[in-house]
Amino acid sequence: MDIFDTHAHLLDTQFDEDREALIASFSDVGLKLVMEACTDLGYLKKLIPFVESHPMIYGAAGLHPEELGPYALGDLDTVAAALAHSKIRAVGEIGLDYYWPENPPREVQRAFFDAQLSLAADHHLPVIIHDREAHGDTVDILRAHRGRVTGVMHCFSGSYETAKECLDLGFFIGFGGALTFKNAKRNVEVAAKVPLDRLVVETDCPYMAPVPCRGQRNDPTKTLYVLDKLCEIRAMDRAELAPLLFENGKRLFAI
Ligand SMILES: [Zn+2]
Repeated sequence: MDIFDTHAHLLDTQFDEDREALIASFSDVGLKLVMEACTDLGYLKKLIPFVESHPMIYGAAGLHPEELGPYALGDLDTVAAALAHSKIRAVGEIGLDYYWPENPPREVQRAFFDAQLSLAADHHLPVIIHDREAHGDTVDILRAHRGRVTGVMHCFSGSYETAKECLDLGFFIGFGGALTFKNAKRNVEVAAKVPLDRLVVETDCPYMAPVPCRGQRNDPTKTLYVLDKLCEIRAMDRAELAPLLFENGKRLFAI
């Protein structure tokens, strides 16, 4: 079986003790590819040597909406420079996060989101979208870039109507551990309807550990639990669904 975790944060300090041992165990569960999502410029600096030394791990470069505090739009030049690297296959994660009141002001988030979408369009790269409690503004800004950029709605949490808008804009829909939670009724309904050629799986590790690992550190091997939940939702078995999801991830990031 081939599995692609399309959204991970393996450079998070939670993996400092056992990162290489963990990566060495990926093949035991059929995990063949990982997309490492960047959050800030410090992260980006570590990301380049990390993807260079791990053939199965690719990277995205970008500024996360919660991490914009220290930056000006001119700092996106550093992100742009990283996009020329052969193992950087996306701009991300970028988007809007209106959940925490202490997050950067919404107009700042929107300006960085818009600028990073333009960056992706200029470099012909897909984007990894973080949208938390900001579905309306996210779709509005994506619509303004229609036809110039697509990518993936990571850890999708919106309604089917929002998913449909994103699908119409050419986006993939990513599901992670939240799909396995007891209160995931709406997520499950969306996952049942997304076309099979637009679905991808992810962990967002070390966060969002799926059932039955809730409360533990998440890691890419736990993509299996998300895959199994999707198998249940779509009434398919692993042998049918896993290859589709793997190919979708490769197509998404041109791997
Ligand atoms: Zn993430």
